[in-house]
Amino acid sequence: MILGCIADDLTGATDLALMLSREGLRTLQSTGVPHHSIDLGLIDAVVIALKSRTIPVDDAITLSFAACDWLKAHGAKHFLFKYCSTFDSTDQGNIGPVADALLDHLKSDFTLACPAFPATGRSIYMGQLFVNGAPLAESPMRDHPLTPMRDSDLRRVLQKQSKYKIGHVAFADVNQGADAIASAFEREKKAGHRMVIVDAITNDHLREIGRAAASLPLITGGSGIAIGLPKAYLDRGLIKALHPPSARLVAPHGRRIILAGSCSVATRGQIAQAIEKNLPHFRVDPFAIADGCCTIETIMKWVTSLPVDALPLIYSSDDPDHVAKVQEQLGREKSGALVEHLMADLARALVSAGFTRMIIAGGETSGAVVEALGVGLLEIGPEIDPGVPWTKSRSGPEVVLALKSGNFGAPDFFTKAWDRLS
Ligand code: ADP
Repeated sequence: MILGCIADDLTGATDLALMLSREGLRTLQSTGVPHHSIDLGLIDAVVIALKSRTIPVDDAITLSFAACDWLKAHGAKHFLFKYCSTFDSTDQGNIGPVADALLDHLKSDFTLACPAFPATGRSIYMGQLFVNGAPLAESPMRDHPLTPMRDSDLRRVLQKQSKYKIGHVAFADVNQGADAIASAFEREKKAGHRMVIVDAITNDHLREIGRAAASLPLITGGSGIAIGLPKAYLDRGLIKALHPPSARLVAPHGRRIILAGSCSVATRGQIAQAIEKNLPHFRVDPFAIADGCCTIETIMKWVTSLPVDALPLIYSSDDPDHVAKVQEQLGREKSGALVEHLMADLARALVSAGFTRMIIAGGETSGAVVEALGVGLLEIGPEIDPGVPWTKSRSGPEVVLALKSGNFGAPDFFTKAWDRLS
């Protein structure tokens, strides 16, 4: 293994694993830190998916160390800490504190922070993160249920979270290519900056940043930051060849389902389109879960009454006003946990009832579902939309899963995704 990756949520891990696999590294994804040693065979990269984005900082650091140590013990030479391309975090953490701690843990004196992912509309210019052309703080991320982002300046956001001085490598350097970026890293180090926000607008920028950063022990960013690494490792002789991924994924026989717990704009659009196309749908209301009216039994009764070839959609997703009302009455964490637990228990019941092909929308939601199913290792399959591949379980029940970060995917994601399975 050349590269060991620690991702702070599951869909982010899948997004990164897809990027590495597409660019030629043989990549495996693990849900959580494996409890035992694994014979990795010909694997170049492992992505360990944690559920550490919104947990207490100390727990996030402990989990990240465990992942880092497992990867190191299995041969990783370089490490990547992956977080969301919209920098999902609060002033209390967890991106800054985990990056600080990993720098110390790996005895490294410098790293970069670059969540840019142009394929999904995330770019960084003069330290400001843009989401589909809008500054982060004016994008729908300002109303995220768990990590509302109200400042677009990543230098300021990260500085509030980190104990180290944050620097910046701006577009003017990035645009000149890898050598200029490497010189800028040296300049920033001399200025006493242990972490730098790096501007990036295009994939070419990310490839040049990857070339400049390939020798760093630790890199941090979104999945985009990985785009240049495989080729950079090849050029440096750290790997012998690139291995393009297989184009199709063979799915086990069984029924299909879509579970959506994301309240993001893209997911709500996908739900609207699915309903317009007459997909049978069931809306889960957090108040109804809280007062015991909406149970697994009710939902299973509905879903199993449908024809076996139906494509049912079960969703809790709602608009920001309604989510705010729910959170006001039930509490932010409690309402999130209520929905996540229901989706997790539901997924278990569905697998027992013969459902083997699932789309799960939402990072936290996907994490809860995969944990409940006991799916450990995932093989990465074909890409459905940027950042979202089909995956197949290599441990636990035999299922194929599309784990979609809430804001990812085109409006027709829920209906077109199935064409990539055979
Ligand atoms: P995303 O990838 O869009 O961030 P997540 O699944 O990570 O989606 O986060 C959405 C959070 O919102 C989850 O904790 C989920 O349980 C919670 N949630 C889902 N539906 C509702 C709702 N109707 N009201 C309040 N919270 C909700």
